[in-house]
Amino acid sequence: GQERSLLVQLTRYGVKQFLIVTRDVTQLEKLETTRKDFVANVSHELRTPLTVLAGFLETVHDMPAPSISDEQREHYYLLMMEQARRMQAIVDDLLTLSTLESSPSGMGEPVRVGDLIETALQQARSLSKDQHVFVVNVNEDLYVAGIESELASGISNLLTNAVRYTPKDGTITVSWYLTEAGTACYSVQDTGIGIASQDIPRLTERFYRVDRGRSRATGGTGLGLAITKHVAMRHNAELNIRSRFGAGSIFSLEFPASRVVTPDDSVA
Ligand code: ADP
Repeated sequence: GQERSLLVQLTRYGVKQFLIVTRDVTQLEKLETTRKDFVANVSHELRTPLTVLAGFLETVHDMPAPSISDEQREHYYLLMMEQARRMQAIVDDLLTLSTLESSPSGMGEPVRVGDLIETALQQARSLSKDQHVFVVNVNEDLYVAGIESELASGISNLLTNAVRYTPKDGTITVSWYLTEAGTACYSVQDTGIGIASQDIPRLTERFYRVDRGRSRATGGTGLGLAITKHVAMRHNAELNIRSRFGAGSIFSLEFPASRVVTPDDSVA
C-alpha cells in the first residue's frame, strides 16, 4: 500500500527510474516494538526510585533546621542513598549491555576461570550472610579463551542469583569442569524457589522478572541474565536453564571445546 502510493507520487514528479527495496517488514516491526518496550521499561525502572528520592528530599527540605536530629538525618540519608544506588546499578548494567552489543568480540585470551569463581564466591558468601551452604567443585587448571571482565560478570550473576532466589539454609553447588565431550562447563545449582517452565524462556529478556517485588527487594536490576546471555553468545557458549518450580534451578554456561586452552596458548 505505502510503496504503491510512493510510486504514484514519484511518477507524478516525473521520476522514471526506481530502485525498489523490499524487506521483511514484520521483522522490522517486531524490532521497533522491542525498542519501544525497552524505552518504556527503562523509563519506568528509573522513575520509581527517582520519585521516591524526590519525595524524601522534599520531606527533609520541609523540616525546619533545628528540629531535625542526627538520627533523622542519618535515617533519610540512608533511604535516599538506597534509591540513588538502585538507579546507579540500573544505569551501570545498561551501559554494560550496550558495550556488549556494540563492541566486537574476538577470541580474547586464556582466562583462569577458577580465579573468577573464587572472587564471585566471596561476593556470594557476603550476600548470603552465612545463610546458605556452598559446595564447590572447581578444576583450577581449566582455562578458556575469552574476555576476563565479561566472564567475571556472567559467573557472578549466576551465583548471586542463586543466593537471591534460595531461602535460608539452602545449598548452592558451584562446578567448573571439563565434560566428556571436551567442552568446559560452569554450573550453579541451587535448592531455591525454582522457576515455572513457562517463565524460563523469558528470563534473559531485559527487565523480565518472575516476581518484581522480590527481585527489587534483593537488589536485582532485572538485567543480570540479559547480560549473561550476551556474554555467553560472545564466547560461543550456551546458557542453559533447568528448573523445577519450588525445588530449585541449575544455570550453566557451556563453552565449546574450541575455547578450551592452556595458559600459554596465544589465541588472539
Ligand atoms: P534480577 O536482577 O531480577 O535477579 P536477572 O536477569 O538476573 O534479574 O534474573 C531475572 C529473573 O529470573 C529474576 O527476577 C528471577 O525471577 C529469575 N531467576 C534468576 N535466577 C534465578 C534462580 N537461581 N532461581 C529462581 N529464579 C531465578
